[in-house]
Amino acid sequence: MAALTRISRPSSIPFSNITKSLYFYTTSAAQPQNTNNSYLQNIKFSRKDPKDRNVQWVFLGVPGVGKGTYASRLSTLLGVPHIATGDLVRKELASSGSISQQLAEIVNQGKLVSDEIIFNLLSKRLIAGEAKGESGFILDGFPRTVKQAEILEGVTDIDLVVNLKLREDVLVEKCLGRRICSQCGKNYNVASINVKGENGNPGMSMAPLLPPAHCMSKLITRADDTEEVVKERLRIYNDKSQPVEDFYRSRGKLLEFDLPGGIPASWPRLLEALNLDDYEENRSAAA
Ligand code: AMP
Repeated sequence: MAALTRISRPSSIPFSNITKSLYFYTTSAAQPQNTNNSYLQNIKFSRKDPKDRNVQWVFLGVPGVGKGTYASRLSTLLGVPHIATGDLVRKELASSGSISQQLAEIVNQGKLVSDEIIFNLLSKRLIAGEAKGESGFILDGFPRTVKQAEILEGVTDIDLVVNLKLREDVLVEKCLGRRICSQCGKNYNVASINVKGENGNPGMSMAPLLPPAHCMSKLITRADDTEEVVKERLRIYNDKSQPVEDFYRSRGKLLEFDLPGGIPASWPRLLEALNLDDYEENRSAAA
């Protein structure tokens, strides 16, 4: 895979096209006659040649697999923003804005919020990033349905979709161990996972991902990380989001990546799979 050609730094490309189109969708989506797919075909959008723009990647994977962790590390490495729609939703929830009560009910049951709300939050985030000179993105938690993937495809080109996979018995344990620092917003995990190899399957160990001392007393658990809600979120993923994998697989954009364990084992292997292992070495040497 020619990941290195994709990450060469082109001049900064504004997001005007994508933000305008998503915003157009959002504002028009309030009008029922405009929410169908034929409406989307009317969007006029000039696409940039991939060599003229920055990374536009998507991270897929079941809740708890570690999309946020790896997307955030790659975003630092590549100098592009990591945009997690779950974070945008939680920020909106915390803001006690007009839709926060409505959102709390949906999110705390593990259900998906409406496309209208998601596109609204995402386009606002992209517009704010554009104003700061951001270019490119690593999306995490979006698209979550084939409809969202189709809308995204209607407005911009995604270069690569990384599908992170982890054995299911480990996933619930990881979700239940997840903690967020209520001050800096970073994700940690207190679970110490040690699954023995069985029936020819290898064992797996994942050390806890503990925060620095100053975050320790500020750790909180997400309201949707209870066992019942995690199981519901996994069910919804299999129902609504797994078809998104097929959507990108059929377009030849899907990179499947089986996580072999925790960060120390997985990060170098992921960089290798993305042809970025030399890139990290060169960056560290230049730092
Ligand atoms: P996450 O942090 O990605 O697990 O997202 C937390 C919650 O935010 C999800 O359970 C959904 O309720 C909502 N959410 C995040 N992204 C989306 C999306 N693309 N579409 C619909 N709902 C979303």
